[in-house]
Amino acid sequence: MIRLFRTLFVLAITLALSACQSPDTNEAAKVVGEANPINIVVTTSMITDLVSIIGQPYVSVNGLMGPNVDPHLYKASEGDVRLMTGADLVLYSGLHLEGKMVDIFEQMEKRGQNVHAVSDALAPEDLRESALFAGNHDPHIWFDVKLWEKVAKRVGEILIEYDPAHGEHYQANLESYLSQLDELDSWIFAELQRIPEQYRVLITSHDAFGYFGRRYGLEVRGLQGMSTATEAGTADVQELAAFVAERKIPSMYVEASISPRGIEAVRAAVRDRGFEVQIGGTLYGDALGSPGTNAETYIGMVRENVGLIVAGLIDKP
Ligand SMILES: [Zn+2]
Repeated sequence: MIRLFRTLFVLAITLALSACQSPDTNEAAKVVGEANPINIVVTTSMITDLVSIIGQPYVSVNGLMGPNVDPHLYKASEGDVRLMTGADLVLYSGLHLEGKMVDIFEQMEKRGQNVHAVSDALAPEDLRESALFAGNHDPHIWFDVKLWEKVAKRVGEILIEYDPAHGEHYQANLESYLSQLDELDSWIFAELQRIPEQYRVLITSHDAFGYFGRRYGLEVRGLQGMSTATEAGTADVQELAAFVAERKIPSMYVEASISPRGIEAVRAAVRDRGFEVQIGGTLYGDALGSPGTNAETYIGMVRENVGLIVAGLIDKP
């Protein structure tokens, strides 16, 4: 039955794709300018931010997933498919982050569309194994700023390849952004040094922060595993609660794109064990914040998260 559904789903995508205009393989010859920008469709808000910065002012970036949207569960609408088929370039994160869109990307690639997974920039040794699925990798690559720099370089290459006439311009945008990312990376190290060593533990709704922890020296415990598509069970809640109570961790965190219920259950279970743990705030996990918040850019989002983490873990309970 599941196979039948999958077949029907793939068929539906194929039909939706063939109903759209065939991608013009000579499209790369188009003369790009401010009045005629490269039409780029991307998935997550982190990629929207990155491509806009490196490509400005010669790109028009259309992000399918807005602020606070969970990419693990996001299903492409017919309108999304139409946007992607009409685009000059399609960029997505990959490593199964967009778990419900994998078939669509495969189909588009088969049809010769200019589609790239930005995580292709990373080498196998950059990637963390996923504890949840053997052979899969943790898709939350953006929380190691050094890995995000590699992704930025890849985006630069893709733009230069598409529009070599503005190659020097993209290269200059890239280099200025890389120096901002270098600064961000050093700042995170310095900030986290303020947390007493025994409290350098980050507890969140799901395992979005594994790369962050690996790079910056925090132990990370997620309640839900690496995809939000799996729910935490009672045993997970109790195990995490025992850990928090024993280590007297001052704060745990919820995530903007995920229901706080799980972490609240852990908090109640910690209380049953005679310890009071705070909710240190809402971290941005798999999406940037809304326009007008400090987290509407990638750099802003990382800074907001680090601010909350430090504030919640330097206070002794
Ligand atoms: Zn996630």
